[in-house]
Amino acid sequence: MKSISFVLSIVFFVFRVNAQTPTTKDYFQQEVNYKINVSLNDQNHTLKGDINIHYKNNAPVALDTIFMHLWPNAYSSKLTAFAQQQVQNGSSQFYFSKEEDLGNISQLDFKVDGRKVKWQTLNKSTPDIAYIVLNQPLPPNQSIDIQTPFTVKIPASFSRLGHVKTSYQISQWYPKPAVFDQKGWHPMPYLDQGEFFSEFGNFDVTITLPQNYLVAATGELQTASEKEFLAQKVIESQPIINADTLGNHFPPSATETKTIRFKAQKVHDFAWFADKRFLVTKDTLQLPSGKIVDAWAFFPPQGIDNWKNATDYIKRALRSYSNWIGEYPYSHATAVLSALGAGGGMEYPMITVIGKTFSPEGTDIVITHEVGHNWFYGILASNERDYAWMDEGINTFYENRYSTKFYPPEESQKKKISYEKLAYFLKARTHSDIPSITPPDRMSEMDYGIAAYAKPSFDLDMLETLLGRPAFDQIMQKYYQAWKFKHPYPEDFRQILQANTDKNISWFFDALNTTKTMDYTISSVHQDGQTADVTITNKGSLRGPLILFAKKYGQVQDSLVAEGFEGSKTFSFPKLKDGLYDDFEIDPHLKTIDLYP
Ligand SMILES: [Zn+2]
Repeated sequence: MKSISFVLSIVFFVFRVNAQTPTTKDYFQQEVNYKINVSLNDQNHTLKGDINIHYKNNAPVALDTIFMHLWPNAYSSKLTAFAQQQVQNGSSQFYFSKEEDLGNISQLDFKVDGRKVKWQTLNKSTPDIAYIVLNQPLPPNQSIDIQTPFTVKIPASFSRLGHVKTSYQISQWYPKPAVFDQKGWHPMPYLDQGEFFSEFGNFDVTITLPQNYLVAATGELQTASEKEFLAQKVIESQPIINADTLGNHFPPSATETKTIRFKAQKVHDFAWFADKRFLVTKDTLQLPSGKIVDAWAFFPPQGIDNWKNATDYIKRALRSYSNWIGEYPYSHATAVLSALGAGGGMEYPMITVIGKTFSPEGTDIVITHEVGHNWFYGILASNERDYAWMDEGINTFYENRYSTKFYPPEESQKKKISYEKLAYFLKARTHSDIPSITPPDRMSEMDYGIAAYAKPSFDLDMLETLLGRPAFDQIMQKYYQAWKFKHPYPEDFRQILQANTDKNISWFFDALNTTKTMDYTISSVHQDGQTADVTITNKGSLRGPLILFAKKYGQVQDSLVAEGFEGSKTFSFPKLKDGLYDDFEIDPHLKTIDLYP
């Protein structure tokens, strides 16, 4: 590592956030294309290779510095942001890990257009962020090639990048420029809780490793011999899956190596997973436009019971999300069962890694959630570190739509409050909830689950109820078309929403940005005139939509969905021909976050 004096002015400049909120007309997007050659040494668990990053500056300003993520360094000491967060979240596994299980990225020697450049990491506790000082500023519309050799020591499986014996999870693994956009630079240390934000571009990745590894990766496989190898593996896997008898041992590595190549377009990350034990299943589906997509599943024998129908889940998820939001743009979607320390599954473009699951249904739901992230993260590439609700919240909403459709609750279960909603109620009723807008690295683990995932999905449930599903879906499709392969911010989502409905949707953003609650109660009923007049009072301050049912003898006679309000408001139902309504009920199916339903 080269040492240079810390240039404070540069750092202050690049961290500066515009005082004025940028508007869509300020939007620009950098283009970053990668060429990576890497070899896996499975004796000492290292990757050795080189990278060429073609960086095109589409910003209206010249750049004199490029911020780089060196995320394998998150595992290099017990002082990193990742290490500290692990302890804060109550996990001591990394803190007490042995030296040989740590990881890092080393042997870096950055050059720009062939000339050496000064670079350094931010500081001791942030070895996973570096900045390169360019020899001369990069003007608008010009490109540079940033090159460096690198060696990654693959850590044990603590979070995402890792290995268990010779099973490899290669993610967040190469030097990668931070996003520079209309709001400035977005350097971020690697974290377990708190995801990512990356520039779009193309990847051309060549991997050399012992011949008998199966490799699942982002991108399209280019190597003919490897395509044959995989096709043969699909044929060989089926009787093993049917018999379910194979042991789970690691076969020895072949002494011969192979070199395989993948290319990916319009993605912002590249991950790969290598394991000699993988069984492989493959299927294809045709989307309504005629586009053909391959669905692949890679899993070791221990996963047979829950994974034998995995390609069916992938296909159904692809069809559902394509239909609801917009067509899947890539040529394959792959799910891998492998070691994962961060959550139940983790998304990468075109590929997802899933940890241990406990039933076929559970496997389906996790695969669907992670495949769904191709839309909310992969294609609509929001800043996950700052606005987790834009990927996790929206994606959880669609995951719930999927599970309700394909695993519908029994009639007796329909009035039950979900655990997630109960958790929200518990927090909100004790005034210990936090706004969904809170950055995930400042949330407790429990708050992360509620505020980033569950609560925004409830808010979307309410929005869908208010607008009606067809109108809601149309808006989401417009959002997809307007922002695919870009970096939407909350204000961009809001702009699309508001432009496509005449309803006031400011409550939706209040629900995300504040801890305001809604609590409608019936304060009076009058049925003596031509109508039944029901006066409702909101004891809270969130103007979420009101759902009101009018009943007689337990049967629903009429219902309404109305825009929310503060204070009191009277709603009228036409009088019944035969007598009076005997009951009025607010939100009987618990579709809203009414605090005392
Ligand atoms: Zn997720």
